[in-house]
Amino acid sequence: MRLTVIGAGYVGLVTGACLADAGHEVILVDLDDSKVADINAGDPPIFEPGLEDLLDKHVNRGLKASSDMTSAVAEAEVVMLAVGTPSNDQGIDLTHLEKAARQVGEALAGRDDRPVVVVKSTVVPGTTSGRVGPILVEASGLELGSTIGLGVNPEFLTEGTAVHDFTDPDRIVIGADDEATAAVMLELYAGYDVPKMLCGTATAEMIKYASNTLLATLISFSNEIASLSARIDGVDVAEVMAGVHASRYLSAGDHPAEIASFIFPGVGYGGSCLPKDTVALAAHGRALGVPMPLLEQVDRVNRDQPIEVMRILSSELGGAIKGRAIGVLGVAFKPDTDDVRESPAFPIIELLLEAGAEVTAHDPMAIPNARKWLGERPGLDFEDDLSKVVAKASALILVTSWDEYRQLPELIVAASEPPLLVDGRRFLPKSSVPYYSGIGL
Ligand code: NAD
Repeated sequence: MRLTVIGAGYVGLVTGACLADAGHEVILVDLDDSKVADINAGDPPIFEPGLEDLLDKHVNRGLKASSDMTSAVAEAEVVMLAVGTPSNDQGIDLTHLEKAARQVGEALAGRDDRPVVVVKSTVVPGTTSGRVGPILVEASGLELGSTIGLGVNPEFLTEGTAVHDFTDPDRIVIGADDEATAAVMLELYAGYDVPKMLCGTATAEMIKYASNTLLATLISFSNEIASLSARIDGVDVAEVMAGVHASRYLSAGDHPAEIASFIFPGVGYGGSCLPKDTVALAAHGRALGVPMPLLEQVDRVNRDQPIEVMRILSSELGGAIKGRAIGVLGVAFKPDTDDVRESPAFPIIELLLEAGAEVTAHDPMAIPNARKWLGERPGLDFEDDLSKVVAKASALILVTSWDEYRQLPELIVAASEPPLLVDGRRFLPKSSVPYYSGIGL
């Protein structure tokens, strides 16, 4: 099929590349000319395992990028909207989506072959039919259902494993309010032999939020248990969670089910999805007169987690943080990505700088992005050589569980004055370094 994806970010680019790999003819549209040029040169503008191979294989064959919306949409059978949907204090911010919908609508004016527009961006329930639909109709002059189709296809990929997640998904949710649209969306995914769930557009939107906010809830729940565990003599939350994971509800045979990885404490969740989606759904509930106190607290616990990290550090250093060299290990919000959006490393760095620490931040991939977000700050340095960070630090805070950090015990033990390790992810064994502390210990 001929598919045009609007927005070539983490989701749009992976979606376009994978659907080109599935045999479709794909055009990616982005406002950012440098992204368009990178993609057309076969250089992924983001780090995502497997993406470069897909670009090598399909760019200038079934996949190309463009900044010209009108020509890119002109012959598309399906147009997918994959632009960002951030949230602010009032809830979801639909500025980018509404603008993109208007541009798509204008580009579709006069079409007599019933193109289908699919919202891939995460949007609060009711947005596609209540906001995107009317904009498309007004801008295109087409009639919803008869001369233009409108669907929702939420994306569940995780950065770091995005290509794999898209290629081999657990399920594909197809939200459509008429059969003809559902049929086109099913055809798009015909090559995917996985469960396909057909539902209305608002239900599809809600499935995405329910999925993300459940994961956020499990993480904040675990962090609350960890904070209490840390204050009770003899309790180690890592052992507590091993005991919880062993429940038959959470294990498949001898192995913890994957959901168990979210029932585990850490420095808090970050990234471009869980924080904003939790806030957006709670705000949507408030707007509809249905408060969501659980989700409000899930967000609050998450925001407080960097303070818990500082409490641990301060108690281990006897309150003396000012002037100390502290290494922050990991600025990406999770391993295997260069994405730093809402990374928990940022509030931790802010708190350290406020306390007068000399901070060195390390990351195998995300330093350029972190520099853009944090800018030049007195007391803050970046270093990509892990051994140098270890050699000069009084304490290290492990924020992101990059595989590279498995070599930390060796580097720490070899240091002339081995630093304290505050393991924000409970990633390394307690006995692997001379001075170990961590969340929930
Ligand atoms: P992103 O910020 O990485 O990418 C969005 C892209 O859209 C940017 O490149 C931007 O330049 C482009 N854009 C914005 N307006 C445009 C317009 N009018 N025309 C053309 N291009 C335009 O965002 P993302 O992380 O890919 O997220 C996109 C959506 O997918 C969001 O709704 C997000 O919640 C959802 N989502 C994200 C993930 C994830 O892991 N990142 C996972 C599932 C769902």
